[in-house]
Amino acid sequence: MLKVDNLTFSYNTKNTGSPVLSNINFSVNRGEHVSIIGESGSGKSTLLKLLYGEYDLNEGYIFWEDTEILGPKYNLVVGYDFMKYVAQEFDLMPFITVEENIGKHLSNFFPEEKKERVAELLEVVELTDFAKTKVKTLSGGQKQRVALARALAKKPEIILLDEPFSHIDNFQKQSLRRSVFNYLKEKNIACIVATHDSEDVLGFADRMIVLHDSIVMSNKSPQELYKNPEMPLTASFFGEFNLLNDDIIYAHQLKIVEKSDLRVDVYHNYFKGHYYLIEAHTEDDIIYFENRTALEINSKVFLEILKRQ
Ligand code: ADP
Ligand code: MG
Repeated sequence: MLKVDNLTFSYNTKNTGSPVLSNINFSVNRGEHVSIIGESGSGKSTLLKLLYGEYDLNEGYIFWEDTEILGPKYNLVVGYDFMKYVAQEFDLMPFITVEENIGKHLSNFFPEEKKERVAELLEVVELTDFAKTKVKTLSGGQKQRVALARALAKKPEIILLDEPFSHIDNFQKQSLRRSVFNYLKEKNIACIVATHDSEDVLGFADRMIVLHDSIVMSNKSPQELYKNPEMPLTASFFGEFNLLNDDIIYAHQLKIVEKSDLRVDVYHNYFKGHYYLIEAHTEDDIIYFENRTALEINSKVFLEILKRQ
């Protein structure tokens, strides 16, 4: 189990100004998938780097099982065998091939096993056709996948992924995500994924940790946070929403009815595939709701709030 106990960190070594992260507590079980979400600059990357031991903490402890993760002051070589980290900026060896990069840290004593392992990993990150390609000729997204495979090569017990699919185009993202996350579950590898992409979270994460104002605002399952998002930032993960009398109401919770107290003027239709997102105006508010068909601009409709399912 990973245990983060009362972690506080500031980049400013003089310890002045407000810390990037304060009093952070959470734990991650073996094989568990935890997402870290938060706005840009909320400290997601910093937290992953701290978990990896890249910096010394101002306060607190980090443990994986019985091993304390220590920063550079107490540990000359950053990194542990049981833990791998794939940074937002990945460093690969450009002049050797994809398979050589992936197998870089695998022993040459067992060439057959090494070959099989690399082939398996190429499949997980969907790069089999590029095994013999030099890394310098790959796209950003392909490089990101090589970095992922290399981190998985020695079967870590826990892997830290920073925006792991940010460079990968939408055509491949869905299937790659399923492949990588299912692989981690299958092998019981714990993962902590920093992301601002809800698709990385929903359907995969066991828990979401929401970072905001340097603290952990929420730490619950996606299902629980969907039902009770607690703050607009979290709600935005689940789709378009409105604040009505300070209540978070998702766009899909509003339905057109014959008559109600909520009368709006249709302003714009956004095609979304199987539905339209409708922007409508009240006297002093903008309201978003979903409807199967587009509506006539400037027409008036009444809306009712459905219970969250
Ligand atoms: P996120 O990954 O959520 O976008 P970061 O962890 O990268 O956020 O950054 C959190 C805060 O720490 C930001 O205010 C950022 O400017 C600051 N920061 C990040 N890296 C450094 C650094 N190496 N030195 C000083 N400040 C940093
Ligand atoms: Mg970041």
